[in-house]
Amino acid sequence: MELTFERWGTDPGSPIALSNLLITERRTLMRIRDIEAKPGERAFGYLEASKTKSQVPVHIPVNILNGAHDGPTLLVSGAVHGAEIVGGLGLAKIMRELDLQKLRGALIAAPIMNTSAFEIGERLTGFDGENMDRTLDTADPDGSPSAQLAHVYLTELLEPADAVINMHSGATDTAVWYTIYPGEYGDPDVIKKSRQMAMAFGLRQIFRSTPKSWEGFHTVAKDQGKPAIMPEIGGGPDFLNNGHAQIAQAEQSIKNVMILFDMIDGEIVTETETVEVFDAIHEIDAGTNSGILIWQCERGDFLKKGDVFAHVYHPYTGELTGQILAPADGTVLNTGKVWPPVSQGEWLTILGDLVEEVRFSDELP
Ligand SMILES: [Zn+2]
Repeated sequence: MELTFERWGTDPGSPIALSNLLITERRTLMRIRDIEAKPGERAFGYLEASKTKSQVPVHIPVNILNGAHDGPTLLVSGAVHGAEIVGGLGLAKIMRELDLQKLRGALIAAPIMNTSAFEIGERLTGFDGENMDRTLDTADPDGSPSAQLAHVYLTELLEPADAVINMHSGATDTAVWYTIYPGEYGDPDVIKKSRQMAMAFGLRQIFRSTPKSWEGFHTVAKDQGKPAIMPEIGGGPDFLNNGHAQIAQAEQSIKNVMILFDMIDGEIVTETETVEVFDAIHEIDAGTNSGILIWQCERGDFLKKGDVFAHVYHPYTGELTGQILAPADGTVLNTGKVWPPVSQGEWLTILGDLVEEVRFSDELP
């Protein structure tokens, strides 16, 4: 399939704009419940979704940054897994510096979506131990706190958005660096626009498909006709050396998408000249191994089925107790557990099949 880039412009006289579903009506007041921002203004508030056992409100904190000019509405969320905060840190920098008098369109920004998970520094919702980004099939106003939060996300944050960035990152024991777009099935036009967003985001690896269990807000958005991506960027084990660079990349990448949508001026800056597109399909877990896991390969290496991925050592005696083998041929992708102690069955990383390697400049302006 040949893809030609279209700047998602806002000029109502241009043929692109007339055929472009992302163009919204003349922008006026933007409101989500009692959070409301006039054109050129910013507002912050909480969307209550549930209550704890002690009747403390469970909510999603939301910012609306409403531009003074017409344009699309972009929803950017971070930390739906509460410990995965790097994307939200880049988003927060944009929120501090964005000139709303120049902004075309609106930014709905929720840098910390899952507050209870954030408070305890964990991936899963503190109140129920559920995965908020995987409760979408059961999103329910009468369900668990996670299901109620997912329901609010779908009905009140996703609904007014034209496009979605669902930012994830590594946490305390993982480091990640890629962008997922839902490229497997669905409306070809939405898939094409999602791919353009992933290209504009500008990381050197893009995943076109992922395991079914990874589906979440980005796939629901796509199913509702809204282009969407799920970037995974940064993480704790790499933060000491590269934290500023992680935040700067998240900031630049979000801005790249806003430039693609013609919400702000600027040039799209990608991390590399070429991008590798993968189907991410062969997951590796610890199986019956546990102990100290030391990788025997680098990210980016190509492993043949049966090649040694990692050694496992006894934490007390130091002896080699097992090794973990590649379950199939594939490239070790920029994802996975970095910190050595592992439990049986713990997820480690994923191998990908390289689909294509293309120059960003072939798909971006
Ligand atoms: Zn996550």
